Amino acid sequence: MTPDLFDTHAHLHFPEFADDLGAVLARARAAGVRRMITIGTDVPSSRAAVALAAREPDVWAAVGIHPHEASLADEAQLVEIERLAAAPRVVAIGETGLDFFRNLSPHDAQARAFRAQLALARRARKPVLVHCRDAHEETLAILAEMPVSETGGIMHCFSGDTAVAKRCLDLGLLISLAGPVTYPKARALPEVATLVPADRLVVETDCPYLPPQPHRGQRNEPAYLTITAARVAELRGEPLAGLAARMSENARRLFGL
Ligand SMILES: [Zn+2]
Ligand SMILES: [Zn+2]
Repeated sequence: MTPDLFDTHAHLHFPEFADDLGAVLARARAAGVRRMITIGTDVPSSRAAVALAAREPDVWAAVGIHPHEASLADEAQLVEIERLAAAPRVVAIGETGLDFFRNLSPHDAQARAFRAQLALARRARKPVLVHCRDAHEETLAILAEMPVSETGGIMHCFSGDTAVAKRCLDLGLLISLAGPVTYPKARALPEVATLVPADRLVVETDCPYLPPQPHRGQRNEPAYLTITAARVAELRGEPLAGLAARMSENARRLFGL
């Protein structure tokens, strides 16, 4: 029997999947991935995510403006994201947050767009999908000030240490582990995988990015979620089937599915 998996963060509407999305989704379903969220990163990509979710019964959408695109997030763009948030099958706002690693938008523009989307999520009564890279202090401060506990959300592709994980849990967030937990240089992630309570943990691919260890250098896809989930189960010393079902339940509860 395949495990019951939920890919909480994918970009299935990205051009990387344009030629063979049908085959990608078929492999995901065969691997036990029963539900997937496809995540918007700007207005056109959020529109594409909503359109894809309308076509596929096991795909839902999130709409938002990624920190890389934050300098585009003017009033008109945010109004359009809020309009899209009301579309059928949109279950979350994001991805939004701070990325001080690549710095593709100025820090103040990132913080402004992040705060605006947290407020939007509260009005829309939907959880938030948070992207955070090399900006944990600043991200946690904004999440505490808003506060994110009112909507709930996920710290996606978690990349912090155990202290950051504890602070995310205190804020009411779920923690999502992605492909990097399978890498030989996984830093604090194996310890984080064992520390997070079973009712606060989810997994994701972030495909087409960040494939798990055996597929590094290739395009990632939801079928590979099994590898990441199996590694997390191994680290926790739990059978995969039970943990996978538990993580899917966590995601379903958050997204109201
Ligand atoms: Zn991200
Ligand atoms: Zn992403």
